[in-house]
Formats: sequence, structure tokens, C-alpha cells
Amino acid sequence: MSQRTDSLVELKQKVGRCIDEAKEKLHRLSQDIWSCPELAYEERKAHDRLVAFFSQEEGWKVDGHFKLETAFRATWGPGGGQGAVVSVGFLCEYDALPGIGHACGHNLIAEVGAASALGLKALVESTADFPVRVQVTVLGTPAEEDGGGKIDMIREGAFEGLDVVFMAHPLQDDAPYLPDVAEHDVTIKYHGKASHASAYPWEGVNALDAAVLCYNNLSVLRQQIKPDWRIHGVIKHGGVKPNIIPAYTELEYYLRTPTRSELPIIKAKAEMCFRSAAMATGCEVEVEFARNAFDNILRNKTLEDLYEENGKALGIEFTTDEEVLTNASGSTDFGNVSFVVPGIHPYFYIGSKALNHTEEYTVASGDEKAQFYTLRAAKALAMTALDVLLCPELLQRVKEEFAEAKLKEDRMLKGGQPDNTPKNNK
Ligand SMILES: [Zn+2]
Ligand SMILES: [Zn+2]
Repeated sequence: MSQRTDSLVELKQKVGRCIDEAKEKLHRLSQDIWSCPELAYEERKAHDRLVAFFSQEEGWKVDGHFKLETAFRATWGPGGGQGAVVSVGFLCEYDALPGIGHACGHNLIAEVGAASALGLKALVESTADFPVRVQVTVLGTPAEEDGGGKIDMIREGAFEGLDVVFMAHPLQDDAPYLPDVAEHDVTIKYHGKASHASAYPWEGVNALDAAVLCYNNLSVLRQQIKPDWRIHGVIKHGGVKPNIIPAYTELEYYLRTPTRSELPIIKAKAEMCFRSAAMATGCEVEVEFARNAFDNILRNKTLEDLYEENGKALGIEFTTDEEVLTNASGSTDFGNVSFVVPGIHPYFYIGSKALNHTEEYTVASGDEKAQFYTLRAAKALAMTALDVLLCPELLQRVKEEFAEAKLKEDRMLKGGQPDNTPKNNK
């Protein structure tokens, strides 16, 4: 037993050294992505840079434009020992935000994915008696900030064959898990009829009235929903000129619930708000839900605990702030991945307390200071991959936990459908 444990500790130290050996090119990689921010589904330069990065490395099979124009796949192996192949995936994100660049640090997510994969491959190759047969896959997953590229890629089968997936996201704190919630975005369009607002207002059908009623209906609904559900939106088009009865208005809303099984309920309630506003004003309404709905993250405590243990060994101080740990944060398309393959999406500190999606965070994610923390997160992920590779029982436990959690959520999804039949309980 101690023999095994010692060698595992040694391998973990070695994988860290392998990552450190590549630190200069990894830094250049994230710098290049950072200095040329691109929006969701338009990350052509980042795609080309990452494809070139893996093409220049020995032994990787690289598929550019994999399933999506700005997605890619790099695979190495199988390498190492004998027997069944264990397939480990690392995910890179690299999209930026409009106007403020890499304010969510996705350039560093790309670096973490590349670093962990490079480190693991180098370790397996340089360890003569590595006991397990391993395949390492890097998936470049575009459009996390808008659209949900991972969801498109799941639909295309990009995650098939992977046993476990890893990624890590920059934040103000280190945490093995934070509650990312389910989300579905919706656009509501009201079509009315223009008319002179003073001369013949009775000839018009006011689409702005419909938008305002919709806004107010949703504001009223907020009191009747659970405290951790979220409805937030904007009026994108509110008319053209005060003396023209607005013929067209448009709103965009995000609907969020802690689990994907609750989404149908909030959607049905919100839809009644959209449609009743149309009915009250005589407008036509179009309700367009986004192509992709984001799932909450399905937890895998086994992987989280391993990541935490490895992180602590590297000096990571994980947050104990209950507010950070329990408050809903955002939503991520990794949630959908977590329902397809067991995986984790820990958060890592990058040397700054600036908040994501601010200009200060853009500066922080390009700062050299972030490098130490980024590579430390990559090491913790690679070490966690080693844990599940070298202990088949652990991998089994990870898979069982995944299957059980998924089954539980699926049951909730079936049982959670809302009953919208009007009740006459007077
Ligand atoms: Zn973001
Ligand atoms: Zn992000």
C-alpha cells in the first residue's frame, strides 16, 4: 500500500514539473488569446492559435474546426500500460466579452486545459512502467459566454468515449465547486400596428404597451417564485418616436433555476406573462427560446474531494466563505457536459479580487501574476486525473456517483413538470 502511495505522490510531483517545463509556451499561448479577444462562435484566431500549439507538439492528432467552426480536438495516445484505455478529457474555453475583452479570463481556461493535457502526456510518456493505458483529449469549446458551444458539441457527439473531463475557471476565490445554475434565455417580440399617436391613436396597436405589461407581469411573478430562481431582462427595442405608436418591440430575458428540472416550471410561468401582455394589447407575440438551454452542474463529490486534496498539497487555500459557496453564481454550458460525462469545473484565484466581467478582471487575466495560479490549477487537475487513472476503484466510484446523480435529476425532471391547468377554486 505504502509503495503505491509513494509512487503516486512521486508521479504527482512529476506531472507538476512537466507542466512547469512548458510554462513559457503556455504563458505565450494565453497571452496571444488575451491580446486578441474574440466573441462567441467567432474565435477564429484563438482556434488557429490553439490548433497550431498542439500541431507543434509531438504526438498529438489535431482536428481543427471539430464539429463547430471554432472548436477543435487534440488527442494523444493511447499510451502507457496495458488493458482497457481510460480516456481523459480537458476542456479549453477562449471566447471573450463584447467591449471589455477577456473579462472572464477564458484565455486562462485555455491555458489550464493545454497545461494539464501536456503535463499528463509528458508524464505518461516519460514513466516507463506507467500502469494504465491512457488517452488524453483536449476539446476546444467555443461560445461559453453566449450560445453554449459545448451544448452544440454534445449534440454532435463530441464528448462520446470520454471517461472523465476536467476544466477550471478563474474567479476571486478557489473553490472545488460553486453552484452554477440552469438557464434558458428567451426573446419576446411584440408586433402591433403603427399610427399617428396624436391624430389617430385608436388606429394603432401599441407594442410598447405590450412590452411594458410583459415587464410588469414578470416583476409581479418574481414575488411568487422561489428565492433562488432568477428572472432578469432588458427591453431591446422600445419603439422609434413618441408620435408613432410603436409597431414593434423586443425584450430579452434570462430565466434561471438551481436545477434543470425546475426550468420548465419557470418557463411556463414566464410564458403566461409574455402571452397575456399580447392579449391585453391586441399585439401578436413571438416567443423565441434560445437554441440551447444551460443545465446546472451535476456535482461529483469524489472528483471535487480529490481536487481539493491535491490543491491543498499545492498550497491552494480554498474559500470557506459560506456566502461564496452557497450563493448561485452564473450558468455555464459545462453544466450540460456534467450530465454527459463525469467531470469537475473548479474555480481558481488568479491573484486579484476584481470581479469577473469587469475591465479590472480583463487586466488581471492578462497579468503575469495570474500565471502562477493558473498553472497551479492545471497541476491540481492533472493530479486529480492521475488519482482516477491509477486507482480503478476511484474511477468506478466517480462513474457510479455520476450515474446516481443523473438518475436523481432525471426523476426530478419527469416529476417536475408544471401543471398549468387553470384552477377554479373560488
Ligand atoms: Zn463569464
Ligand atoms: Zn467565464
